Amino acid sequence: MADRYLSFTGTAPGRFLTRRLGLPQPAPLRRWSAEHPSLDGRLLHLTAGKSDPDLAPVLARTGLEVGTRADAGTGRPTAVVLDATGVRDTDALAEVHAALHPVVRSVAESGRIVVLGAPLDPADHHQYAVQQALEGFVRSLGKEIGRGRTANLVRLTDAGAAESTLRFLLSPKSAYISGQLIEVGGRDAGVDTGIGIGGATVPVDDPAKPLAGRTALVTGAARGIGEVVAETLARDGARVVCLDVPAAGADLARVAERLGGTTLPLDITAGDAGARIAAALPGGHLDILVHNAGITRDRRLANMPAERWSSVLDVNLASVLRSTDALLAAGALRSGGRIVATASIAGIAGNAGQTNYAASKAGIVGLVRSLAPRALAEYGVTVNAVAPGFIETRMTAAVPLFIREAGRRMNSLGQGGVPGDVAETVAWFAGPGSGAVNGQVVRVCGQSLLGA
Ligand code: NAD
Repeated sequence: MADRYLSFTGTAPGRFLTRRLGLPQPAPLRRWSAEHPSLDGRLLHLTAGKSDPDLAPVLARTGLEVGTRADAGTGRPTAVVLDATGVRDTDALAEVHAALHPVVRSVAESGRIVVLGAPLDPADHHQYAVQQALEGFVRSLGKEIGRGRTANLVRLTDAGAAESTLRFLLSPKSAYISGQLIEVGGRDAGVDTGIGIGGATVPVDDPAKPLAGRTALVTGAARGIGEVVAETLARDGARVVCLDVPAAGADLARVAERLGGTTLPLDITAGDAGARIAAALPGGHLDILVHNAGITRDRRLANMPAERWSSVLDVNLASVLRSTDALLAAGALRSGGRIVATASIAGIAGNAGQTNYAASKAGIVGLVRSLAPRALAEYGVTVNAVAPGFIETRMTAAVPLFIREAGRRMNSLGQGGVPGDVAETVAWFAGPGSGAVNGQVVRVCGQSLLGA
């Protein structure tokens, strides 16, 4: 459903009126398109505390022209990366202010600020305190900077292992992600897990088709976010298997045909869904499993019949647990594989009328946190989740007008997301360079005020 307010504020009278009335002025976001695949422009590489020498070559590979503090006064940078990994005390924390204060105003519209932190050190309460301070700093900055600009914090141990994450955050693909903390492990966490198919090792570094040779299964792929996730993974070279309920068969066939994929009409709540998925996989193997299917049956708890509760818990959580277990146990997910589940900010913040839905989505967060380290150790598979905020789909088009408008505006970017914002996040998790991204729940919500 079109966001008429966003279109109106893009016109001269709209800008004038909303400014006079003090209303939100959302900026159109620069999203990925085949014609405009990168942000273009200059990236300022700044440092607070001791710098990480491995970072410069990684930033050089982002495709942006890299400048340093000496270039801070010239032009408008598209992105600023502040290396704060060496911040261990409050003196060094002052350097965060010193580095960003002079440049923050000059960052271009739809630009990026990425702060790099270090893992919290439990043996050093000074380091722990100031690294934790970066989180509050970045979340506040995200709420201040406006004009479609975003601010995110990445905690990393190894700049090389974080390359896929930095490329993602410094691209138009992450336009609707702001105010987030992403923790990236070290090289031993399984970066660049090339997989062998038919005796040949699949190259992991084809920038145009990073998922070439991989098979991806997307549940709920007949429409909405799932359809765009399947489309995005296919764009990146994956062979897609599109699953949805048999009743959605016609839409499912249309999607699979368009993407050159295959269909799997199946109700994911079926007890044997895992076995039926395994049997339907081309070659019997899977590399990327995207649990996207989900339903809402909203009602306040006092008015909620047991059936509404159980149907939501069954589709959104129980079937995800069951099918994941079955596919891992059957060895259907190859080493180097990826599981991406779908949570929601409702599962993080809670939402009146959604005790069932929020419980199911909070359960997804728990599943990711618990399974991620074991799945990586035992199967070489990462487990992460996206937590969408207000995304423009049929699900949100059905929301009453005033609640829908509030959902769109109550975030730092002042607008709803689009399915592609979620899909690009899934594709980043699924990418061959993202083996060190594990156990993360990344909100794709424009830094929604809910649960912020
Ligand atoms: P949607 O209703 O447009 O699409 C969901 C798809 O899942 C449908 O095609 C449906 O047929 C399928 N599905 C439902 N039950 C199924 C089952 N038992 N077996 C197989 N397929 C089934 O929803 P959407 O907005 O695209 O949402 C996709 C996911 O994102 C869901 O998990 C949803 O909870 C989550 N999410 C969406 C938003 C949003 O703003 N749209 C926000 C947060 C989270």
